[in-house]
Amino acid sequence: MGDRFIRICPEKEVTAPKEKAQKILKWLHSENLFSEDLSDCVYGGLGYRPKENLEHYIVEKGEALDVIDNQFGGLIIEYERMIYDGYQYSALLSATCPKCNKDYLEGIDYDKIVNGELEGKYKLDYEYVSGCVDSWMDNPEATILCKNCKTISRVVDFEFQENMCLTNLSFTFWHILSLNDQFLLKFEEILDEKVVKIFGKL
Ligand SMILES: [Zn+2]
Repeated sequence: MGDRFIRICPEKEVTAPKEKAQKILKWLHSENLFSEDLSDCVYGGLGYRPKENLEHYIVEKGEALDVIDNQFGGLIIEYERMIYDGYQYSALLSATCPKCNKDYLEGIDYDKIVNGELEGKYKLDYEYVSGCVDSWMDNPEATILCKNCKTISRVVDFEFQENMCLTNLSFTFWHILSLNDQFLLKFEEILDEKVVKIFGKL
């Protein structure tokens, strides 16, 4: 069993990510859901520890309490422009062109992606699209040339079926996996952005 997490990210880059994060923290602290102080309870930085009230927003009862008891797990917030993914659970499965609505990766076998067994045109297509997605890191205006309609569109305008998000704000909940819909709705309301949920495993 590895270390699992879920991430909540605004679907697209937001302006003033730090201010948005502060609004979320204000809510989390006002309802006494997470600690106000930071500690080394998470990977990759300092995090906020869950508190008992978090149980109100959890489907699997006892999950927050387990994390409190085990002294590991909690929330880490990141602000960098990044491709936020689920580590082991991440693979690009489809990339739909905003102009012609065709999936660039149609017919590609998920198991072959995961096992690195793609060949021929599938391999080329996959490498081209994932290369374009990666290039968004250095260039927000990075594009993909659609092989079907031959139109060039921005990477962020393509629709991906995947477990990742190209954005500049991420809330990662280590070992807290069953946050309910109400919790997500609250995020959307406070951020005033649509959010995505990403499942991950380290
Ligand atoms: Zn197209």
